Amino acid sequence: MEKLLNEKKMPNERGFFGEFGGSFIPEQLTFVMKEITDKYDEIKDTEEFKRELMYLNKHYTGRPSPVFYAKNLSEKIGGAKIFLKREDLNHTGAHKINHCLGEALLAKKMGKKKLIAETGAGQHGVALATAAALVGLECDIYMGEVDIEKEYPNVVKMKILGAKVIPVTHGLKTLKEAVDSAFEAYLKDTSSQIYAIGSIVGPHPFPMMVRDFQKIVGIEAKEQFLQLTGILPNNLVACVGGGSNAMGLFSAFLNDESVNMYGVEPNGKGNLIGEHAATLTYGEPGILHGFKSQLLKDNDGNPAPVHTVASGLDYPGVGPQHSYLKKIKRVKYTTIYDNEAIDAFFELSRCEGIIPAIESAHAVAYAMKLAAKMNSGNTILVNLSGRGDKDIDYIVKTYPENFILND
Ligand SMILES: *Cc1c(COP(=O)(O)O)cnc(C)c1O
Repeated sequence: MEKLLNEKKMPNERGFFGEFGGSFIPEQLTFVMKEITDKYDEIKDTEEFKRELMYLNKHYTGRPSPVFYAKNLSEKIGGAKIFLKREDLNHTGAHKINHCLGEALLAKKMGKKKLIAETGAGQHGVALATAAALVGLECDIYMGEVDIEKEYPNVVKMKILGAKVIPVTHGLKTLKEAVDSAFEAYLKDTSSQIYAIGSIVGPHPFPMMVRDFQKIVGIEAKEQFLQLTGILPNNLVACVGGGSNAMGLFSAFLNDESVNMYGVEPNGKGNLIGEHAATLTYGEPGILHGFKSQLLKDNDGNPAPVHTVASGLDYPGVGPQHSYLKKIKRVKYTTIYDNEAIDAFFELSRCEGIIPAIESAHAVAYAMKLAAKMNSGNTILVNLSGRGDKDIDYIVKTYPENFILND
């Protein structure tokens, strides 16, 4: 196993994690992807780049984010001890800023003028617009018209930050179409722009690069957990959309065989096509957006429609490294339904005074189930990927019975 997991070889030079990953892109993009890979390889280990990123992580994002023992929740469940890695406390409220700062710095060093990206719920858009403002780059965010209406506060934030939000009006007018449009815009000018992907997905080098920028989560957590308890955690739990927050945490523990890892996918409303977005659980190998991985397909073999209460997990594909880790059985992938995530959202809020993002609530929900099956000698470290401020409006609308005021 040691050999298989050796990070230095993951991915190989063509971007493959075993059979997954790689680069399945139009000819025009081959050159620019190589340019990005070469520049990244050239600067990533230089003192200057590492120092700049470390400085921003510390003084801008507020790293290290703490590890917190959720004592009230753990004692209420009466099983394993649950700990939280508090990525919700980062500037902009989630882990996404970790890779957005890295991508923005790289773009600046490559002499690019503009960052472009797609966004679904607007979380990646806001984090990227933030990084663009800081580093001094223009920023175009492609967003489906349906999402623009649904996620209006994030649209306003991106505009305040100086980004241009470009409505996407074709097809279902949501995330997949936004990716199509962003790709199209990118193809028109690959010399002055860079497409800053929002997770560990897309063609090589993005799954590798975004993972590297997120790895700080796991590196910090390992040291903090050891300091708090004197041992390594027995179990890691993280939600998986594209898979960046999970891979950020898992990366630092892959060679620690005593540590069990659980990736939690959204099972939405049910197990049928269109009811969930649990790619590793129900998918099969396929190619989407330039890389090979597990993929949810409809009956015609096209990317399936997806549903989950957590817009940040709403994607029919998944990072190729997760497909590989599932195949070699290093990580166990499991699922949580919408209603279980919502229950965990309220439970964590009321037990600990921490309102989690609904995405992160999937991880909390699974950790609660796992904890109940174990005794208090066991530990579970959850990546709390983001905070729930963005979800408040949705929660009020969907569960009005919880918000009737007492007279
Ligand atoms: C975007 C997002 C996710 C999902 O993305 P991953 O790449 O799977 O980490 C999870 N949690 C939060 C808070 C998010 O904003």
